[in-house]
Amino acid sequence: MARAPNDFFNDFSLLVIDECHRVAEEGATQYQEVITKLRERNPKLCILGLTATPYRLGLGWIYQYSHVNEMKTDQPRFFRQCVYELPLSYMIKNKFLTNPVKVDIPVTCYDFSELTEKGRMYTQSEVEELLKNQKRLTPLIVKNIVDITDRFKRKGVMIFSSSVKHAEEIMEYLPEGEARLVVGDTEINERDDIVEDFKNRKFKYLVNVSVLTTGFDAPHVDVVAILRPTESNSLYQQIVGRGLRLDPGKTDCFILDYAGMGHDIYTPEISDKKPTKESVPVNVACPSCNFENTFWGLIDFEGEVLEHYGRKCRMMGCGYRFRFKICHVCGIDNDITAKACEKCDAVLIDADSKLKQAKLSKNAHVLTPDKITFEERLDKNSNPYLEVRYYDADAKYLSEAHFFSNISSMKKFQINFLRSHLKRPELSDEFQSPQDVIKYQKLLRLPSFVIARKQEKFWKITEKVFVEEL
Ligand SMILES: [Zn+2]
Ligand SMILES: [Zn+2]
Repeated sequence: MARAPNDFFNDFSLLVIDECHRVAEEGATQYQEVITKLRERNPKLCILGLTATPYRLGLGWIYQYSHVNEMKTDQPRFFRQCVYELPLSYMIKNKFLTNPVKVDIPVTCYDFSELTEKGRMYTQSEVEELLKNQKRLTPLIVKNIVDITDRFKRKGVMIFSSSVKHAEEIMEYLPEGEARLVVGDTEINERDDIVEDFKNRKFKYLVNVSVLTTGFDAPHVDVVAILRPTESNSLYQQIVGRGLRLDPGKTDCFILDYAGMGHDIYTPEISDKKPTKESVPVNVACPSCNFENTFWGLIDFEGEVLEHYGRKCRMMGCGYRFRFKICHVCGIDNDITAKACEKCDAVLIDADSKLKQAKLSKNAHVLTPDKITFEERLDKNSNPYLEVRYYDADAKYLSEAHFFSNISSMKKFQINFLRSHLKRPELSDEFQSPQDVIKYQKLLRLPSFVIARKQEKFWKITEKVFVEEL
């Protein structure tokens, strides 16, 4: 199309791009050439993209805002907004796809947890190294797949392996004549033949290494076995999706997950990286616009949200910050990790240099708290106030007082205490008295460091540093 004669580009008002995730990934390519030519002739050209994989490894979401105006990334994207979404869960519920059944694995799983702890993309050699140490698990896992397939009379099994070597190993333990292998290097013709034979049920087990995750379609597949790490929920969903086509006589598809990375087809993809191993997606309503954000967080046994790590409401144009740092020059809110003020460019002092400075000064004391206590006391006019004590491991403590007697002291308490201590900052209005604080103290968290400075005879707490600032 890029080579078409110039007048071909004249009268377009809508451009539709299938598999549009490629536009975002390929940069200045033929897509851009065509788009530029169309836009030169019609600056109001609309561009509609279609894709089944809007979340890409390494890139993240290919659009900036979701169909409900939720911000998916603050980076600019070629596609500004998703206008329509058809999630897997909807397709299953309405019977356009088969129901996936996650089978509890009676045997052991691979342990890939080391890969996610680093919080970055991992390399193929790291995966190989981990598998080398867990080699003894492969025959057990493959035996389990074959047992389940036989016992439940399954018809087509897709096995996703971590590497070519791993795939060859898996092949050794599968029933002879019943299994074939497709890898990246497999010739196109040969691959087509294998896939064709698989669809015609000439063999039962199809092993592959990252080649059949998209665009592959064998409706009779009723077991999907995952023996590879899945870096994102979206990739996990793509893999599971290979087994969800409808087929006569098929009632469900077994999902055998031997990677144990905790993905689920019903949990949404969260763009931020998972902050702790225990984190799960939680819903948090924005106090300013009511939008239900999905953030990483912690829940108790009853499913109640104990804490969340969201910083800013994701609704387009809202801008409410759950956690923030106030600029000491102009007073506006900044992201907790911002180095300079968004509005006035003032350099914001970071926690590390605060700590370093305090540790060097003989008029400052840095305490590492391991316990916090709250008590209601009475001042000399018999007004109740709250005493907060931070104890370190040697039972030394620093304390601070908070007053609730008028609007301005309440405001101070909000800014100086609740804003940073609350595990759920959006609930700050619930705290109106020392008794409220004592009652809801499980919602309050410890700082990582408390810095106090000597003022005449007393040590006064001047700064606190929380985990997300380090
Ligand atoms: Zn909001
Ligand atoms: Zn400022």
